[in-house]
Amino acid sequence: MNSLGEKIAQLIRTTGPISVSDYMAICLFDPEHGYYTTREPFGAGGDFITSPEISQMFGELVAVWLFQSWQACGAPLPATIAEIGPGRGTLMKDMIRTLRQIAPDLASEASFILVEASPRLTGIQKETLQGSGVKLEWQTSLDDLAAQPLFIAGNEIFDALPFRQFVRHDGKWLERSVGLVDDGALGFGIGTASLAAETLPPEILSAPDGSVFEIAPVREAMMSSIASRIALNGGAGIFFDYGHLRPGHGDTFQAMREHRHQGVFDTPGEADLTSHVDFSALASVARSHGLSCHMATQGDFLLRMGLIERAGRLGQNADDARRTKITSEVERLAGPDQMGELFKVLTIVR
Ligand code: SAH
Repeated sequence: MNSLGEKIAQLIRTTGPISVSDYMAICLFDPEHGYYTTREPFGAGGDFITSPEISQMFGELVAVWLFQSWQACGAPLPATIAEIGPGRGTLMKDMIRTLRQIAPDLASEASFILVEASPRLTGIQKETLQGSGVKLEWQTSLDDLAAQPLFIAGNEIFDALPFRQFVRHDGKWLERSVGLVDDGALGFGIGTASLAAETLPPEILSAPDGSVFEIAPVREAMMSSIASRIALNGGAGIFFDYGHLRPGHGDTFQAMREHRHQGVFDTPGEADLTSHVDFSALASVARSHGLSCHMATQGDFLLRMGLIERAGRLGQNADDARRTKITSEVERLAGPDQMGELFKVLTIVR
């Protein structure tokens, strides 16, 4: 067992089994050994690659969407352009470059805010965004955002927030826990907390024993916090992640290391832990604040925003190697067998 595994085992010996949600939060954000606090997750040498890291076109099209939403709101100023969970800062860099070209007034007047929980990644984002020529600021939570129109983007942020799992057992849904199994290793158990049938989507009521159902109050709370600001002050939000558009059951807890799946208990803190995002749950939170929501696959969204045309323009004066690379980026971002269908986008507007 690695050091974080030992630390978690010690916690369980002292206080008893913990929830899947607590296990995930410790693995990702333990100050000494946590995944986002200590490791370099992104890119070819990391554990996974994200859309903004695949191609500059992703950030360019997101910037165009934010710009159009800003115009549709009557081009309010002052305004905040924010990103939540910015990783290496690549999406923000591409958005700023694009906005400075297509909307110089917005770029020069807006406050650009990065909301990031990891001090280490904040440092990397500062390097990436050095000399970007706009008013930039970092915050560790949404609480400090100014009371003004908010145009906010997020890529693969909701899947990185903790979630809870419930297992169907004798007709009840009981919370899955993380405890110690026979040989002292970390393993799943069943706790006593249960879900009331009235709170469940009809789709899962007839699930057989042993089925797993996931909920994510932390994700919903984050969406609520964003949506309430947009409802109050105006603005729009756009969020990409992998997940499903309709509620359903199934175990989607996964660990990813060096671009491969591994067991969620194999190397705590050394692998990325995620689960699929339930977009319908996030959309109903945003709707409860009176916002309109739209959901689509990443592929459909990017193609509708002009991915092919943008790729064509980028390729115009490029050599063959660069052109081949641009084509493969389009396929990775929007191809149905790549990220085009598994990844979804939720947009929210007042
Ligand atoms: N958007 C980036 C990185 C995705 S990884 C990309 O697409 O490449 C998830 C990011 O969310 C990391 O930067 C992580 O540190 C950050 N994060 C996780 N929980 C957070 C929280 N509660 N508030 C803000 N950022 C968070």
